[in-house]
Amino acid sequence: MTLQLKDRSLAQLREDFAARGIARYRADQVAGWIYRHGVEDPMEMTNLDLPLRRQLADEWSSRALELETVQRSNDGTRKLVLRTRDGAAVEAVLIPEERRNTLCISTQVGCPLACSFCATGALGFTRNLSTAEIIDQVCRARDLVRGESDEDAERLSNIVFMGMGEPLLNLPKVLEAIRILTDPKAFAMAPRRITVSTAGVVPRIRPLLEVGPINLAVSLHAVRDEVRDELVPLNREYPVEVLLDSLRNEELVSPRRPVFFEYTLMKGVNDSLEDARLLPRLLRGIPSKLNVIPMNPHPDAPYQPPAGDVIDRFTAALHEGGLRVTLRRNRGADIDAACGQLAARKAAPQPPARDS
Ligand code: SF4
Repeated sequence: MTLQLKDRSLAQLREDFAARGIARYRADQVAGWIYRHGVEDPMEMTNLDLPLRRQLADEWSSRALELETVQRSNDGTRKLVLRTRDGAAVEAVLIPEERRNTLCISTQVGCPLACSFCATGALGFTRNLSTAEIIDQVCRARDLVRGESDEDAERLSNIVFMGMGEPLLNLPKVLEAIRILTDPKAFAMAPRRITVSTAGVVPRIRPLLEVGPINLAVSLHAVRDEVRDELVPLNREYPVEVLLDSLRNEELVSPRRPVFFEYTLMKGVNDSLEDARLLPRLLRGIPSKLNVIPMNPHPDAPYQPPAGDVIDRFTAALHEGGLRVTLRRNRGADIDAACGQLAARKAAPQPPARDS
């Protein structure tokens, strides 16, 4: 059976190597090649002796996803469609910002939570991604940006687990991926540059936060249970008060490590002034920031964004209530890469080459 190098954290890989009679430090060397230098072929790992290179090439695999297409939005956002070995499509979105590149990655093929505004939810659920399939989204995106610029600021700087799937329903693989991303001998990313989003799988929030000082984002989207039950059916299991109380009592949430609440604003659904006034009261006692995102319309959901003046009134009421609010621009909506639009729809093929 072929083993997958990217399925293992460094600690695990050292153990696996030791169990096969390979010196543990070799795991660090292999990780350096793969994650720091982007070299995946063991035969090119020139500081390993030849028998070991051959053994790795025979017994181990280092690639889990192939880049199939890249679609580029008018605003520079790029959607990567990647293919797993069993033929599933996985999407990742590369979002250029002023001094950084954020990569939004997926954790499942489809999603079982079936949020009514989300194109991924409409796909249903196929399976969890492996750690290697999560990590390979980062590797393939890095291949894409590498060489485009020598400026560090334009390389991959932030990772958000907000693509297809509910990360906390694939928690062991997500935790292993975070360990690889933050390991100084692998990607060496600062944990504060990583954000994991959840629809509110309450019992799994603490184990996630314990992995390190990463950011937590919570998809709230509504303040009343009868509305949130519709938008995020998981709410029937963990209602608004249960979710918010758990965060209020969470010791690992603090002003230095606030919760990022996401609120997708939908016309006539959750955009009333009453909702805007209730939100600050509900979030009281939780160190938090609130991102308001006008709905990105797509064919799988009946929702529309409110008019501009409604959005302005809504956000003004939130400010008055004392919340720290950011109104997020839609990025990549023209290529179905915006929040809630990832559905692995067949796109007009574009070559996966670097954009010039
Ligand atoms: S919004 Fe997130 S949790 Fe809800 S169905 Fe879509 S991918 Fe799943």
